[in-house]
Amino acid sequence: MAKNCLCLTAKTIDRNLEILNKYRKFVEIAELRVDCLNQDERLNIRRFPELAGLPVILTIRRDIDGGRFTGGEGERVKMLARGLAFASADTRLNFAYVDIEEDIEVPSLEEAARTFGTKIIRSYHNLEGTVIDIPAKIKSMQRTGNEIIKVAIAVKSTNDVLQIYKAAKACPVKEKIIICMGHLGIYSRILAEKFGSILTYSSALSEKEAAGAAGQFDVQDLAELYRIKKITKKTKIYGIIGHPLKASISPLFFNSIFTQEKMDAVYVPFPTDSIDNILDITKELDVQGLAVTVPYKEAILSKLAKCSETVQVIRACNTVYPVDGKWYGENTDIMGFSDSLLAFMECKNLKRKKITIVGAGGAARAVASEVHRLGGKALILNRTAYKARNLASQYNFRWGVLDEKGIELISKFNDVIIQTTSVGMEGYEAADPLELYTFTGKEAVMDLIYMPPQTPFLKRAAFAGCKTMNGYDMVIRQACFQYKSYTGKEIPHKVLSRINTLGESKWSMIRIG
Ligand code: NAP
Repeated sequence: MAKNCLCLTAKTIDRNLEILNKYRKFVEIAELRVDCLNQDERLNIRRFPELAGLPVILTIRRDIDGGRFTGGEGERVKMLARGLAFASADTRLNFAYVDIEEDIEVPSLEEAARTFGTKIIRSYHNLEGTVIDIPAKIKSMQRTGNEIIKVAIAVKSTNDVLQIYKAAKACPVKEKIIICMGHLGIYSRILAEKFGSILTYSSALSEKEAAGAAGQFDVQDLAELYRIKKITKKTKIYGIIGHPLKASISPLFFNSIFTQEKMDAVYVPFPTDSIDNILDITKELDVQGLAVTVPYKEAILSKLAKCSETVQVIRACNTVYPVDGKWYGENTDIMGFSDSLLAFMECKNLKRKKITIVGAGGAARAVASEVHRLGGKALILNRTAYKARNLASQYNFRWGVLDEKGIELISKFNDVIIQTTSVGMEGYEAADPLELYTFTGKEAVMDLIYMPPQTPFLKRAAFAGCKTMNGYDMVIRQACFQYKSYTGKEIPHKVLSRINTLGESKWSMIRIG
């Protein structure tokens, strides 16, 4: 399994030790980023491995590779030599690894490292994306049989990740570190083992000095939430696809259940810019189930071999899993929504209720179908007219756009207002899609968004005295149905009530550097 390596990027040795001691229980290796140290502190690096008491990587990252070292190569080599000097026969007192870029050649330094048992990490950093032939690059980096090869590429697309994954898989080098830097590559860090990496780098994101590479996970999240130490080749992978996917309760929800149920499984965020490429990569990774979120609930339909009747009717799918090697699609938003709304309204159906649905996307289609099934009458308001009209015509509902005329219609449909657009969601503009409407205070108001817990829209409704609810209860309810679809099992009541106490946790945010 891949090791969790904490990047130490504070300005002093003492502060790095303080941070290491705080997070020591989560990691097996640390990387001392000498380039982040104050100038005078760089003179004192030799004793660091002894003080650290665990294997340490010695790294002086250049600015062109995303680091902070701006001096000349002579100075940098001298500093590396200082770190390796006075090697002890007790190798625990030496740096366990030294990171040397593939484009520099300092035979004396490399010889010294080898003699005293410091392993060389031959690294290649590329901040431009996959503009090179990766398999050829990896091959060219192999200088001796016992070096570790590190390839870190800032990915610009899911296709970049796919190419890197394939190259890593084809690479015969046993000891390697493969990293897809940036938001679109975050899962390469959790699934380091599957990408063939011997370690994955993390940051102490709660500390002000955290300055690791883009897309690095928080050290504690990686250890406790994603249980990096337990991921092996056999671990089952589940996850969520979407964009930008900055916040989702699903990783916390599923990983907490997997932990409590002692399941060899991990739930991973898969942010993506391409539905085709992410399905290719999740197939390569043998993913057993995916949640589908904004903006792919419709786009996924053409990729399904089969789907439930509900998906066929509402043309939106939020849950897929492989059946005989092909994707099968379901929609669990439907049940999650109606259970949540009825509990909120303390009623059994929506007969005689006049309801406004804001939005006409995938979530709105699930909402409209349930409002109709439960006997409600609705008005659909959307930014794009034809989508509102099409959805409304399916259920004989009224429709309008989000302008003054449309807003005026709400007064006849204001027992309940259900906000289903992505406006106000984390990662999107903090706007209010219904800003032209003045709440009377009598409306029951539901916003499907749960991160942030109170959007500007919901805040205004609460301020006006309305009874309000965000989408947290719905997302948990629909995730319970997803769990059943993936595993064929119900979540034990005891486990679920423990999960519910987590509330709208900070872990809804996918915390990355
Ligand atoms: P979607 O299919 O992409 O639909 C997005 C909707 O938002 C469309 O109606 C779109 O209008 C509207 N919209 C986007 N930007 C807008 C803007 N600037 N101004 C006005 N309207 C705008 O997304 P979805 O899957 O329906 O999800 C929508 C939201 O529901 C997301 O925030 C999602 O997290 C949330 N949701 C929550 C749960 C839960 O369990 N709590 C479940 C499902 C969804 P146009 O048609 O004009 O583009």
